[in-house]
Amino acid sequence: MLARIEGLEDLSLTTNGYLLERDADALAEAGIRRMNVSIDSLQRDRFFEMTRRDALPQVLRGLEAVGRRPELGPVKVNAVAMRGFTEREALPFAEFARENDFHVRFIEYMPLDADHGWTPDQVLTGDELRAIIHAVHPLEECPREPSATARNFRFAEPPRPGRSRRGTIGFINPVSEPFCSDCNRIRLTADGRLRTCLFSLHETDLRAPLRGGAADDELEQIIRDAVWRKELKHQVGEKGFRRPARSMSAIGG
Ligand code: SF4
Repeated sequence: MLARIEGLEDLSLTTNGYLLERDADALAEAGIRRMNVSIDSLQRDRFFEMTRRDALPQVLRGLEAVGRRPELGPVKVNAVAMRGFTEREALPFAEFARENDFHVRFIEYMPLDADHGWTPDQVLTGDELRAIIHAVHPLEECPREPSATARNFRFAEPPRPGRSRRGTIGFINPVSEPFCSDCNRIRLTADGRLRTCLFSLHETDLRAPLRGGAADDELEQIIRDAVWRKELKHQVGEKGFRRPARSMSAIGG
């Protein structure tokens, strides 16, 4: 079981939530301690429009199942922010966070879509969304932790009468407010390739040396060499930007 690996400090799962109703208990027992669930709309028809699946009720039941397992930690709900779509989702998501004590995070749309349809004018910035929410539910910024991807806000209003729940709202603004300067993230894809940035144009193959019987110290050296070459920043919006060949879903969501 992954959770038993010595030295492992955190184990989280990012999911579309389709199978959480069935699997939340098993995931808790397997040692998962944080859960990120991607939901781009809280309206059934608009959820279908985005995902091509009529699965919102199923995903919400999955969140309820997660809520019954407190060891799965505070639930984070991730919504991609797209101009012309997400403006109408901002307040429902804020209510959703407050009602359920969820941490809802809006993520600016990035050029990692499978359809290669991204254009800069489709990016709805975190500042714009924050203004929509703040006008109705005033927000207060929480201190930023080192290497955090999100700017997090709490609701200034007290919890509703008889409720202790508050929820928080986060804004991940990689396009309008890049946070690359203290990025400490790398990712390993399902096919054994190490990526040192979401926008990496190069990947480091770990599967071949692993299957070839490389010793731990050889693998460590390969990983260290890759990390030394980690990108300083992404170049989205700059002249000469090249999008990576593989989309977000192909590199692990
Ligand atoms: S360096 Fe790459 S992975 Fe890190 S924050 Fe910037 S774009 Fe994201």
